[in-house]
Amino acid sequence: MPNTLYFNARFETSASKLAQCPQDSVVEVAFAGRSNAGKSSAINTICRQRQLARTSKTPGRTQLINYFALGEDRFLVDLPGYGYAKVPMAVQRAWQKNLEYYLQNREQLQCLIIVMDIRRPLTEFDWQLIEWCQASGVALHCLLTKSDKLSRNQAMKTLFNAQKSLEVNGVEATLQLFSALKQTGVDDAHELLDQFFVAS
Ligand code: GDP
Repeated sequence: MPNTLYFNARFETSASKLAQCPQDSVVEVAFAGRSNAGKSSAINTICRQRQLARTSKTPGRTQLINYFALGEDRFLVDLPGYGYAKVPMAVQRAWQKNLEYYLQNREQLQCLIIVMDIRRPLTEFDWQLIEWCQASGVALHCLLTKSDKLSRNQAMKTLFNAQKSLEVNGVEATLQLFSALKQTGVDDAHELLDQFFVAS
């Protein structure tokens, strides 16, 4: 079932710090991910738009928090990618601090979707994000993208192992497979988002 709420998402604003994030926001769900994991492609696919989240790798642009409006007071939030090799360590640390601050202090944030390349799930910094969200009570969803890179069997195994690994560490999270290339997992992503954006 198509979900026009997300197809009509439009760019609202960019913020370089929490103080610049929209004040009229009531509910937001954020996307985070290692640089190159496929976060921009996932957002574009979920919103069925080619250019909503720019796939540009310009470091100056990618360190901003980008807001996409779904309505007057509801937003999808594209957080800066991390682990970009060409960015100096000091700059990466500054982004990490910014992310930590956002995840721990943004009251409107209901859920964090961590976009992971299925071939490299749960990196060290992914765990760091998970810890911050657990500390602030933000719901967690792991989107394992580029699932087309693995066989169905391997993809299911990776999903299962990631789930186990979270469970063993006492983390409550939902997980799903996704592929921007094959356009799979979009309905699952919409269903997840609906829990936060569609009033029951
Ligand atoms: P970001 O840095 O996390 O925003 O990653 P991008 O969305 O820019 O994607 C990084 C690279 O992975 C690009 O070359 C994309 O074309 C590719 N990519 C993204 N999603 C998929 C996918 O689902 N399948 C495949 N095979 N490639 C993908």
